Amino acid sequence: MDFVDIHTHKKPDSGISIINIFPEDAAKIENKKKYSAGIHPQEVSHADITQYLKITEELALLKNVVAIGETGLDKRYPEFELQKEVFLSQIKIAEKHKKPVIVHCVRAYSDLSEILKKHKPKVPFIIHRYSGNKTIAGELLKFGCFLSFGHELFNEKSKPVNVIKAIPPEKLFLETDDYNINIEDIYKKAAELIKINKNDLKNILYNNYVAVFRNAQKLS
Ligand SMILES: [Zn+2]
Repeated sequence: MDFVDIHTHKKPDSGISIINIFPEDAAKIENKKKYSAGIHPQEVSHADITQYLKITEELALLKNVVAIGETGLDKRYPEFELQKEVFLSQIKIAEKHKKPVIVHCVRAYSDLSEILKKHKPKVPFIIHRYSGNKTIAGELLKFGCFLSFGHELFNEKSKPVNVIKAIPPEKLFLETDDYNINIEDIYKKAAELIKINKNDLKNILYNNYVAVFRNAQKLS
């Protein structure tokens, strides 16, 4: 049973890793690795959106592009209304190609909930580096979302440390993102926080991975 790193920007060392790729880096895709491809909300204000959506749609056709993202909403960046539009366009691509969405959401959870309520997407949403509170977490779980955590689990005062204890592990993923940290160490910390055996956690998260990506490709 492999460790699953649901979202990373680095070259993976072992286990299953979903490497994030932005449209401008499409040429870097290697056949044997797994990717998520999409437009980050930070890019929305300065990218050629039509072109980037076209590339994202092309990448979605690839077998080893297993998810769309990271994409989403971030109130720290400009053009919030445009961010929403671009996010929705990518949700459409994800639905068309039956691929899960890796969501980046900062200070915009109510907008995300609204989108989920209104559009009821059928593909699973994985909220990467979830940073909201327990109440919002509960709401997102009702919409069928998965929540993913990473390095912030090592900060005892962070919200994720409380949230991870409150949600069922069947709704959980772990990630390294762009941090220089080992996925195994994040598993260890998460297991400690939710008081579960590390191997049991490994099993559950692997099963989550299989459940979410079953339709996307033949799993290794
Ligand atoms: Zn990221």
